[in-house]
Amino acid sequence: MSLTYEPSVQDFLSRGPLGSFVGGENRALESSAIFPTVDPGSGELLANVKEASPAEVEDAVAVARHVFERGKWSGLAPNQRAVHLHRLADLVEARKSTLAEIESLDVGKPLSQAEWDIGNFCQTLRYYANLSVHVQYRNPIAVAQHEARTVHFPRGVCAFIFPWNFPLLLVGWGIAPALAAGNTVVIKPAEETPLSTLYLVQIAEEAGMPAGVINVIPGSGEVTGAALSRHPGLARMSFTGSPEVGRLVARECGLNLVPVKLELGGKGAAVVFADTDVDATAEALVSAITLNAGQVCCTASRWVVDDRIYDQFVSSAIARMKQVRIGYGQDPATQMGPVVSPKQRDRILGYLDKAKQQGGESLLAGGRASVPEKNGYYVKPALLAGDASNVACREEIFGPVAFVLRFRDEEEAIRLVNQSPYGLANSVWSRDLERANRVAEKMVAGNSWINAHNVFVHGVPYAGVNLSGLGGGVLGPNTFFDYMRDLSVVRPLQG
Ligand code: NAD
Repeated sequence: MSLTYEPSVQDFLSRGPLGSFVGGENRALESSAIFPTVDPGSGELLANVKEASPAEVEDAVAVARHVFERGKWSGLAPNQRAVHLHRLADLVEARKSTLAEIESLDVGKPLSQAEWDIGNFCQTLRYYANLSVHVQYRNPIAVAQHEARTVHFPRGVCAFIFPWNFPLLLVGWGIAPALAAGNTVVIKPAEETPLSTLYLVQIAEEAGMPAGVINVIPGSGEVTGAALSRHPGLARMSFTGSPEVGRLVARECGLNLVPVKLELGGKGAAVVFADTDVDATAEALVSAITLNAGQVCCTASRWVVDDRIYDQFVSSAIARMKQVRIGYGQDPATQMGPVVSPKQRDRILGYLDKAKQQGGESLLAGGRASVPEKNGYYVKPALLAGDASNVACREEIFGPVAFVLRFRDEEEAIRLVNQSPYGLANSVWSRDLERANRVAEKMVAGNSWINAHNVFVHGVPYAGVNLSGLGGGVLGPNTFFDYMRDLSVVRPLQG
């Protein structure tokens, strides 16, 4: 296994310290604080990054506003913007191997999964570029005695705060509709994983995007994220992350009456009926809980299994969890990489302890894993069982840990699923499609999937309810209009 980076990756990493990229140039101040970004697979430094201070946040929003107001982007026709977005997608595709390696190194995820993320980013750009040239921006309204219409306009400077689990993919889900609608954007990536976003903004101009349309301000949540959240000059804020921080961001935005969109955590369930193919379902759910080392907001971390197949399902799942190949993200044999940080590893190990203290049964112990010659943050998959009130069944762990529950009839299964205060995504597994569809509609969440888990389709809205989010979600056609303001124009007709 070669551990040398691709020359283009090496070149990017050695440009450091990286920092705010605003108005088409590196605008980090000499005096900015420096924080390291680390390869979680080896614990080694990848690059130093300068944290955007509140003054730099101010500068970024001012530049984004200036560019918006001069109309260099907002004033283009939708098809002109769409050409730019397709060109950006073309260039990202051409640089896919560089971006995928950067993403894999920064998050720890297997290279093949990082490649999938970059491909998804391009699809998102293309989906909203195409949508933007087909929607109506002026809609006449048929009402008596008035001539009336609504008109959609871009809003202005849209701010985005992202988590570390799918850095570039989530940037795409967030900014693509905002850009296609004619807004300028300011992005704060997670402090653990700023690299792919910083690379993206550096190549955006090469792709022909006007300078200052996409701006990136790396830094911590407490400094950079907080300064962005409380900025009164934002036209919109979109936050993706935990409910705890989502509340803080929403509160700050509320004080300025800045509209906010929140995409938050989850505690998804999979309901497995006895008539399903048990081994195939176990295989699919083990893949889901080990994808990205379990650090997936919508993954199925509660497996709600028909009592009649419970034992068969559990032994099939355990056998598969034991076979998952844990390793370094750049090793092609790796199925599951490390978790993102020592903090995240300790959080997962802490939940395993707390679950046991509360009487949970450890069906597969999990715990730390080691990978030869790599001093990274590796954990093994774990399977827990016990009462639904157990902390590991209630709270989002964000690691490769599933909690299995039994049910005896459909009502009990639905009751167990809906006990959660979260509401992001659940799945139902059954050959009886009538029942699967019935159960899918009774589970309270933004998304119900049938005989699959983690299904993301451009054009199908993906959103959370309750503790999992508010404000309309992502990926749907309506998301595009979230980034536009509406104006009604009305003229009373005489006589
Ligand atoms: P987090 O909430 O800790 O951090 C998210 C972002 O908020 C980071 O950029 C962080 O720097 C920033 N932040 C922290 N404190 C802040 C503050 N006071 N003001 C402004 N910004 C602040 O979340 P995380 O640990 O990075 O990510 C994991 C969480 O994200 C999980 O709960 C996961 O379910 C959720 N998530 C949700 C979705 C979705 O689409 N619903 C997608 C991915 C992740």
